[in-house]
Amino acid sequence: MIGVGDMVLLEPLSEDSFLENLRNRFDHNEIYTYIGSVVISVNPYRSLPIFTPEKVEEYRNRNFYELSPHIYALADEAYRSLRDQDKDQCILITGESGAGKTEASKLVMSYVAAVCGKGQEVNKVKEQLLQSNPVLEAFGNAKTVRNDNSSRFGKYMDIEFDFKGDPLGGVISNYLLEKSRVVKQPRGERNFHIFYQLLSGASEDTLKKLKLGRDFSKYNYLSLDSATVNGLDDAANFRTVRNAMQIVGFMEDEVQSVLELVAAVLKLGNIEFKPESRCNGFDESRVKDKNDLKEMCELLGIEQSVLERAFSYRTVEAKMEKVSTTLNVAQAQAKTRHKVMGVLDIYGFEIFEDNSFEQFIINYCNEKLQQIFIELTLREEQEEYVREGIEWTNIEYFNNAIICDLIENNQNGILAMLDEECLRPGTVTDDTFLDKLNTVCAEHQHFESRLSKNSKFLTDHSLPHSCFRIQHYAGKVLYRVEGFVDKNNDLLYRDLSQAMYKANHSLIKQLFPEGNPAKVNLKRPPTAGFQFKASVGTLMRNLQTKNPNYIRCIKPNDKKAAHIFTESLVRHQVRYLGLMENVRVRRAGYAFRQPYEPCLERYKMLCKQTWPHWRGPAREGVEVLMADLQVPAEELSYGRSKIFIRNPRTLFFLEERRRQ
Ligand code: ATP
Ligand code: MG
Repeated sequence: MIGVGDMVLLEPLSEDSFLENLRNRFDHNEIYTYIGSVVISVNPYRSLPIFTPEKVEEYRNRNFYELSPHIYALADEAYRSLRDQDKDQCILITGESGAGKTEASKLVMSYVAAVCGKGQEVNKVKEQLLQSNPVLEAFGNAKTVRNDNSSRFGKYMDIEFDFKGDPLGGVISNYLLEKSRVVKQPRGERNFHIFYQLLSGASEDTLKKLKLGRDFSKYNYLSLDSATVNGLDDAANFRTVRNAMQIVGFMEDEVQSVLELVAAVLKLGNIEFKPESRCNGFDESRVKDKNDLKEMCELLGIEQSVLERAFSYRTVEAKMEKVSTTLNVAQAQAKTRHKVMGVLDIYGFEIFEDNSFEQFIINYCNEKLQQIFIELTLREEQEEYVREGIEWTNIEYFNNAIICDLIENNQNGILAMLDEECLRPGTVTDDTFLDKLNTVCAEHQHFESRLSKNSKFLTDHSLPHSCFRIQHYAGKVLYRVEGFVDKNNDLLYRDLSQAMYKANHSLIKQLFPEGNPAKVNLKRPPTAGFQFKASVGTLMRNLQTKNPNYIRCIKPNDKKAAHIFTESLVRHQVRYLGLMENVRVRRAGYAFRQPYEPCLERYKMLCKQTWPHWRGPAREGVEVLMADLQVPAEELSYGRSKIFIRNPRTLFFLEERRRQ
């Protein structure tokens, strides 16, 4: 074993020794290290020979602490506890952009697929579950400065199993895709993979049908400076994606429709407008060169004049109604009959030079995940000791609840203020929103409120124009308000959705149901921020009903490079992820706990006095049992309803004895 596999056993424990241990292990290709049952994963940025079928066999049905730390051990533990103990599981994968979350989620899925069920039907389900990844990544991932395959949407997948533990299927929920990327990408970044894949990988024949050429530079939406990415084979990936779409269940004509849409978006990006003066003195916009417009209309079966008109005019409605719709978030967990394993892989925390609405949303989501980690591993754990009457000295930790509140509070949280501003009659701009933010936050500073002394809303005079700054758990982020109001409103002029609805193209029609003139609904759709907050809330409640398994991903360097471990960078992540606190709570506490009854049931065979029947309180039975097995007294603590075991190895010892 290189270094210490479980940080709980590290001696002496300090931030430096923690980092040294991580580095030492990383240098020896040991990218996984435990903190108790939490798995730390350091991105190796190269393929290691530790994900082979032989490894899967090695970890299958083995005790969590038996072998060297591995993501497979976590996956195995989660799967077995789902199958044998009927406990729904969730796998929570966190870490900043490029830390390896998506790769980790795929490793968990492929492990579970490898060990669960057999047979033709089951294998088909497994294939579908696994092949959903390339499809989603093609349309939702892109090259960014941080990550060549960055997820630009949040993904939560519930994998459902029957009572035997065979997979039945999966339900995928997506969270707020970074739509603005289609139109504009930051310098050095790309649009979503699918555009490049299509142009590079489609056959001549397909391209001809789609009225496309291979040359990226012909399309305004495909940025030029970073069109090809080292190590990314767009053409080969296109074939993978097409194949995956077929496996997932798209019919051939559906695949065709999707590709037509992708092509139409590229055409749309090439349409340029010119102003044309009208006799009433106003300018009107006109399509400059009509060829792209014509081709787009042909692809989508829209009459050219209809779309052209929609581009140039806007029917203004006088009335805006206040949001009162309840959201219809599709939730898989309504079906409780099945056992469920949820895998959450979202976009990681992001700090750029220029941060906009998207980063704000992404970082809010990461705050919520950190919050659930704190709730479940730090707070919950400590509260349980108190509840059980176990002697306990509290460990201090930073609770980011105040940051979540600053963003999501219903009255004066930033999202609520943004919504209020978006719905207010009169002239609303990004700057009026910022004024409001600053006023409300300044007002609060007169009171002893959450925004005063411990404020995470940072106001100082060095702030650049049109910006606000938040002290997130993972660092300070400066947000530029430009675009906040528009992106939150997320409105499409009705003329456009109606034009789209008129298309003779079933997919497009489905995508713009609001364009159906028969269904004119004057109610304003909920804002993007409101929807996101609601769906994140539902997600968090869902996660809280499941047994959590944590993978904390760490990015070792900023260069996307193998073998480099930049200490300062890792130190920062170790700090904000709260990993030291995690170890301290774990060390001071007990690795394992179980109510007396099931504990006695499981181990009573190991002792003459308790086997086959113990007549008396379960707690006393467990005491007799442990004494008989000569488990050292300092290893155990007897709570009100549960026994607590300090060292995982004690548990391991008990399990070994059972097997003999
Ligand atoms: P984002 O938040 O931007 O989506 P992420 O945390 O999902 O980031 P990944 O896309 O999983 O990051 O990982 C980034 C890259 O790091 C991968 O494309 C891959 O090259 C490399 N990588 C991650 N994990 C591993 C691994 N276990 N083995 C080898 N390479 C890896
Ligand atoms: Mg990702």
